[in-house]
Amino acid sequence: MIRERAYPVEAWHVRETRLDLDVLAQAESVFALGNGHIGMRGNLDEGEPHGLPGTYLNSFYELRPLPYAEAGYGFPESGQTVVNVTNGKLVRLLVDDEPFDVRYGELDAHSRVLDLRAGTLDRVVHWRSPAGRAVKVRSTRLVSFTQRSIAAIRYEVEAVDEPLRLIVQSELVANEELPGQSRDPRVAAVLERPLQIEERVTDQTRGLLIHRTKRSGLRVGAAMHHEIQGPAKTNINTESHDDWARTTIACVLKPGEKLVVVKLLAYGWSSRRSLPAIRDQVSAALAAAEFSGWDGLVREQREYLDTFWDAADVQVEGDSEVQQAVRFGLFHVLQAGARAELRPIAAKGLTGPGYDGHVFWDTEMFALPVLTYTQPVAVAHALRWRHATLEMARDRAKQLGLRGAAFPWRTIRGQECSGYWPAGTAGFHVNAGIADAVRRYVQATGDDDFEREIGLELLVETARLWHSLGHHDRHGKFHIDGVTGPDEYTAVKNDNIYTNLMARRNMLEAAACVNRHSERAWRLGVDDEETAAWRDAAANMHIPYDEELGVHPQVEGFTRYQEWDFDNTPPENYPLLLNYPYFDLYRRQVVKQSDLVLAMHWAGDAFTDEQKLRNFDYYERRTVRDSSLSACTQAVVAAEVGYLELAHDYLGEAALMDLHDIHNNTREGLHIAALAGAWLGLVAGFGGMRDHEEQLTFAPRLPARISRLEFALMWRGMRLRVDVRQHEATYSLRNGETDASLDLTHHGEPVTVTCEKEVRMKIPPLEPHRRQPRQPAGRARPRAASSRSATCAMSTASAPAGSRN
Ligand code: BGC
Repeated sequence: MIRERAYPVEAWHVRETRLDLDVLAQAESVFALGNGHIGMRGNLDEGEPHGLPGTYLNSFYELRPLPYAEAGYGFPESGQTVVNVTNGKLVRLLVDDEPFDVRYGELDAHSRVLDLRAGTLDRVVHWRSPAGRAVKVRSTRLVSFTQRSIAAIRYEVEAVDEPLRLIVQSELVANEELPGQSRDPRVAAVLERPLQIEERVTDQTRGLLIHRTKRSGLRVGAAMHHEIQGPAKTNINTESHDDWARTTIACVLKPGEKLVVVKLLAYGWSSRRSLPAIRDQVSAALAAAEFSGWDGLVREQREYLDTFWDAADVQVEGDSEVQQAVRFGLFHVLQAGARAELRPIAAKGLTGPGYDGHVFWDTEMFALPVLTYTQPVAVAHALRWRHATLEMARDRAKQLGLRGAAFPWRTIRGQECSGYWPAGTAGFHVNAGIADAVRRYVQATGDDDFEREIGLELLVETARLWHSLGHHDRHGKFHIDGVTGPDEYTAVKNDNIYTNLMARRNMLEAAACVNRHSERAWRLGVDDEETAAWRDAAANMHIPYDEELGVHPQVEGFTRYQEWDFDNTPPENYPLLLNYPYFDLYRRQVVKQSDLVLAMHWAGDAFTDEQKLRNFDYYERRTVRDSSLSACTQAVVAAEVGYLELAHDYLGEAALMDLHDIHNNTREGLHIAALAGAWLGLVAGFGGMRDHEEQLTFAPRLPARISRLEFALMWRGMRLRVDVRQHEATYSLRNGETDASLDLTHHGEPVTVTCEKEVRMKIPPLEPHRRQPRQPAGRARPRAASSRSATCAMSTASAPAGSRN
């Protein structure tokens, strides 16, 4: 865990001012660069020391067996694990006779800066070798948003006070050795040398390696080219071996003289393309990057991000730590999905091997809601990817004896890869999340073609799943039994309210979409009888309620389960999943992550205000936040029910999840859902934005220490800007036609905003109510960022020693 504040608070940068080898792996995740297609961990240029070397290509995986002690029908037989592909980041340096290695000699200065507007990682090092030779090294790295297959590094070495003989070795290395396995199920399986050489080509300044995975049969090509500026006598040559290619640059620098190496890198992979085709693909990508040159790539990167921030930036006044964190979060959510293009967005993006690089429901319920309003094109791509895996989802449904499509709980390629069915297969709610992401995207963009071609079929097939999974009881009530909701400490239960409400919306939305596209729906075999059955199931969906306590049990009967003995659970026993049998967790009232509270966020129209307050209080006392997906939802609903300071605290927890390594596992990759959650906490929490009523609704209200919150949302080609102060909110519109207008509500009051006229509305005062509820003993909420001390980011009381996720 990063206990000291590792990164100073700055509005647009994440800066590391000294190298701390104890948290190297965490910093590698924080400083990861990616574009949704390529991901590179922030490993040091020279490769060592490292926490976890990592270079990933979206959906490039190897198969591995999933062994079971006791197998059962329908258990997936093979798993998929993200592969650490050919490392092109490596630039080693020899200063006279000494390898440049920060563990030896003297490190006079070492800083790294992730620049959120430039989209680059900059590093400056002043180093003196053990023999006393001083060099300054500056490197800048980028993974291009505009050229999807390209990454580039500018590496500069300067001799300081005496002439130096320098050797720079710039490499491509496949099959790097990786650190060993841990017992934590959230850590990836380690693959032994997954890549087999197929071809290697070099010329003076270039190298190209093509490899293939042994089992999944995927082919990957990596190529590099160097542009070098140095003294007149500079030797350059490139050689290769099966698992590496190396360009060596040798020169002597006078004091003050510099050697500058620009390394352009291209990656390509395919399951189908031939070896010559991959070779040509990466060579062509490299040629395009050479054409742009380093300066061109840097300029394009900045322009791309200028456009993104213009639409997506969130401004927070009064909590500069959250301000930095929400931009950091948005940047990484963008990096995870920007150029994924028909590939998924994984739970860790492309920042690390955690969870084997798998995609979960995190994508549709956390990342896509943010991208829908900030970078909608990425949402269309992610959902097109789901659609491309529909055949596999249909096969899975058939195997399970169900109709429609059963999308996997976790996967890379589309097949179910969860070897633990109570928290895998039984987590059917992932299907409703996909349907809801379709609904949200279509509603926000009006993308009718997408709805007809892609959305309709996703809605229909998931509606079919729900209808066949549930059943009407003898009174006509519709139940969905034996499923697992978001809270993974309550598994295989009946009538999970989140699942039921989301399934209800799924079926209603599918029926409405069939009406809008009746001809195409007819071709999918949908008839009136089927849509009537969906509507009937939705109308009769059972939503359990405990009359006696006046709260909703998150699953049928939950409120009568035995309580968890929080008083006798030592802090080091969290996360509970690593210290108690699931058997015990499943039969008690202990909640890993927001579940009923999540239902109150995404399906809030199904609850009264009074119910929300009572439910929130009830679950707050039983939720241990062992998942990084919990705090942001608690922030959103705490804000809605009027616990503004508590909401601020939870916002801080979600937003700082990785900058402070709160769950002690940032080394394995970032928590994309929690990073998206920073935006959700601000926009849906303090902005009170909801989108379940076919129009946007807002109920903004700020906590005491945030004086102003401003955010923008893209809505049908327009930009809605919402500027919230303590006592009033202003809504304005831009980019629309002059006569464009947008209807929304502000604290329930209808408002029409036009391009010509902004609307200013008063924020109704908050009704005083009870004291904020307490968390379970030992799981006290964190304090809000702005009220923490300047030197210690996490107080020990709020940061139990055990690792969580
Ligand atoms: C959470 C899941 C989540 C997964 C990947 C688990 O710990 O319980 O809800 O999908 O992590 O982030």
